[in-house]
Amino acid sequence: STEFKVEMIRKDFPLLTTTVHGKPLVYLDNAATSQKPWDVIKAIENYYAHQNSNIHRGVHYLSQLATEAYEESRKKVAQFINTAHNHEVIFTKGTTDGINLVASSFGRKFIHSGDIIMISTMEHHSNIVPWQLLSEYSGASLSVIPINEKGELLLDQFKSMLNKKVKLVCIAYVSNTLGTVNPVKKIIEISHQYNIPVLIDAAQAIQHLPIDVQELDCDFLVFSGHKMYGPTGIGVLYGKEKWLEDMPPYQGGGDMIKTVSFDKTTYNELPFKFEAGTPNIEAGICLANAIAYIKNIGFDQIHRHEHELLEYATDELLKIAGLKIIGTAAHKASVISFIVDNIHPYDIGLILDKLGIAVRTGHHCTQPLMDFYGIAGTVRASFAFYNTKEEVDQLVSGVKKAVRMLS
Ligand code: PMP
Repeated sequence: STEFKVEMIRKDFPLLTTTVHGKPLVYLDNAATSQKPWDVIKAIENYYAHQNSNIHRGVHYLSQLATEAYEESRKKVAQFINTAHNHEVIFTKGTTDGINLVASSFGRKFIHSGDIIMISTMEHHSNIVPWQLLSEYSGASLSVIPINEKGELLLDQFKSMLNKKVKLVCIAYVSNTLGTVNPVKKIIEISHQYNIPVLIDAAQAIQHLPIDVQELDCDFLVFSGHKMYGPTGIGVLYGKEKWLEDMPPYQGGGDMIKTVSFDKTTYNELPFKFEAGTPNIEAGICLANAIAYIKNIGFDQIHRHEHELLEYATDELLKIAGLKIIGTAAHKASVISFIVDNIHPYDIGLILDKLGIAVRTGHHCTQPLMDFYGIAGTVRASFAFYNTKEEVDQLVSGVKKAVRMLS
C-alpha cells in the first residue's frame, strides 16, 4: 500500500466536495453509511454499460460475463475475511438480511421451546428483533449480556449466564452507538467451551479492522456493503460450511433449486441454496471494487488515521462545558456519541446541518442501550479514513455554536 495522504484520498470520493446549505460538506455520518470512491461508482456504470445480464442461467456470452464477475467478487470477499471455502460466502441484501436468514433458517432447525438466544445490551435493533420474532414462534427466550457505564461487556457475568440451554450467542463486533470494540475472540472461545455457536454482527467492524473468520473461529459473521465504501443493497453472511450444509433454505425460488416437481424439490448446493431469485448483481460485483480500495490503503493506515481523529475529537469535544461522551470503553472504533446538558440531540443536529456538518442524532437503532443510560438519544459523529482534523475542528466549533444558541 502507498503512503497515506488524506487530501489525495478525498479526491477519490466525489461527494466529499459537495456543498450543503452553501457550506462545504463535513460528512461525519459514516456509521450510517459511507461515501463511495470513483472506483466503485465507475464499476457500477461499467456493469450497466457493458455487462448487464442475469446470472447463473444464461448460455449466452453476457450472462457468462456477469456470472463470472459475480463469482469473482465472491472469491474476493472470501479472501478478504479469509474463509476456508468460497461457498461459505452467502450474498444477502445487508447485515439485517443476513441476521434474519440465520434467525429463520438456523432457528427453524436448531432453536426449540425453552432454548435461550444470548445477545448484549448494546445490540442494534437488527440483532434484537429477529431473535424476538424467533422466540415468539419457537418458545425460546432471550438473555442479555450486561455492560458497565463505559459501555463494555461484563465478561464474568457472561460466563455465569452460559448453560446447556443457550443455543446461540449473537454479538456486535463494534457498537454503532458507543464505538466499543468487543472482545469477540474471547467470547467465541468461551462460548465454544459450551459448544455454543456464535454470530458476529460485523456491520461496524468490517470497515475499520482486518477480519479473519478462521482466526476468530466465529460460526456466522454478517456485514453490509454500503458501510464499507461499497454499494447499497448487498451484504454478506459468512457461515461455517458445517452449519450452512445443515440449515434449511431461507427463501424458495429460482437459483436455489436443483430440481423442482410438484411432488418434491431438491435444493442447490452452497452458496446458491441460500440465494433465491435474481440478486443485486451490480452491487455484488462492485463490492469487490470496494474491497480492493480498502486493501490498497490497508488497515494499518486506516487504523492509525481514524484513531488520531478519534483521540483528537474526544479531547476537543470534552473541552466543551456540559458535554458528556456516551461510550468510553478502553478499546473503541472511530465513533463518538455525546450529549450536552439538557439540550435535545436533534436540535444540535439541526444546527450542525445548517453548517454543512452531517451527524446522526437519536437512538441509533439501539433503544435498549439508550434505556440503560437513561437517555432518549445522542449526537453521533462517526469518522472514516477520509475525514480530517480540520473537519473535527469544524464539528467542535459547530457544537459550541449550537450550545450557545440553545442554552
Ligand atoms: N448492526 C449494526 C451494528 C449496525 O450498525 C447496522 C447499521 N446501522 C446494522 C446492524 C444494520 O445494517 P443494515 O441496515 O445495513 O442491514
